[in-house]
Amino acid sequence: MAERKVGTVVHWQNLSSILSIFRLMPEDGSPFPDYKAGQYIALRREDCRLTKRVVGEDGKPHYVPDEDEARNRKVGPVTHSYSISSAPFETTRGRHLEFYVVLEAGECNEPGRLTESLFRIHPGEDDKVGYVNRIVGDFTLDKRTAGARSVVFVGTGTGLAPFAGMIKQLDFEAAQGRRGDVRYTVFHANRSRVELAYHEELQAIEAAGRIDFVYVPSVSRPTAQDRDDPRLGTGRASNVMRHVFGMPLKEEEEMRRAEGGPEAAAAAAALEKAVRPTLPRHVSASDLQARCNPAETVILTCGNPLAMADIKHVADTNHIRYEKEDW
Ligand SMILES: Cc1cc2nc3c(=O)[nH]c(=O)nc-3n(C[C@H](O)[C@H](O)[C@H](O)COP(=O)(O)OP(=O)(O)OC[C@H]3O[C@@H](n4cnc5c(N)ncnc54)[C@H](O)[C@@H]3O)c2cc1C
Repeated sequence: MAERKVGTVVHWQNLSSILSIFRLMPEDGSPFPDYKAGQYIALRREDCRLTKRVVGEDGKPHYVPDEDEARNRKVGPVTHSYSISSAPFETTRGRHLEFYVVLEAGECNEPGRLTESLFRIHPGEDDKVGYVNRIVGDFTLDKRTAGARSVVFVGTGTGLAPFAGMIKQLDFEAAQGRRGDVRYTVFHANRSRVELAYHEELQAIEAAGRIDFVYVPSVSRPTAQDRDDPRLGTGRASNVMRHVFGMPLKEEEEMRRAEGGPEAAAAAAALEKAVRPTLPRHVSASDLQARCNPAETVILTCGNPLAMADIKHVADTNHIRYEKEDW
């Protein structure tokens, strides 16, 4: 079994109250194992606010705060896996691993156990994170994209993490003269502009042109300023993909299905609220579609399960190979 170690968080950047990027240094004298972009590691904190499983009146399991007889909240360790958002070359240079994490919205207004603890980290004060000294996972370019001439990454929220590592590594290798002939396209959607992690870095990689790369960021709650930003699209990732492939919005499809039934009013309200997908001005739907010839394309997605299911629907409808990372 892989050894457990304790690392130190040396950098914590809040993108918003619920989204952050942080860097973890390994335990002294023991570098992190080698890894491939797209892989993950198990992280652990010792002071997590624990929950227990109860079966509710609805007959379904729920997780509620776990308390002792004196009604004090039980505290203990929780371990979960996290995709690495740094590129391997960055870890070689700086020794750290980087992560892009969201504060989980748990049940009963209770934040997630491990992420609540992670979001209390202050480098230099409360900065220890345990980890299992093994980096694993088969969500890598060699395992999931073999034979493809065009690779489309669709990240919703922190689902960008594995793709950020991949693109940074590909760009680094191209700068070293190891450039392939594969086209890469990243779709990344988050609620707001500030929550689009790696936005500037991905824009810079696109502009440098060392790899054939198009970056398509979008925000699902655009401000007037976002709508004026020529480099930013709008809408949720799956609706942006639908727009590229000339498909109706998910909410339009659901409205059509609900018509005349008991769900019609809710479906109409959801459609009314839906943010119409638009693309950054430097790309067009037809350009993007041309990059995704079904015979030679694979769509890789990671993030919100509902969004991933809809992206699978887009891939299946257009006869494009589909791969996903399950969180
Ligand atoms: C391969 C992989 C990579 C991942 N990469 C990332 C990443 O890069 N960034 C990121 O933000 N997340 C990532 N995740 C998700 C991450 O592992 C955690 O699931 C997430 O951060 C929530 O953890 P939490 O402890 O805060 O929430 P939890 O407290 O675990 O709550 C999450 C859900 O678990 C259930 N739950 C609550 N209490 C219990 C309990 N006692 N026992 C069992 N279930 C319970 C509830 O349904 C709850 O809604 C990844 C997951 C996987 C599998």
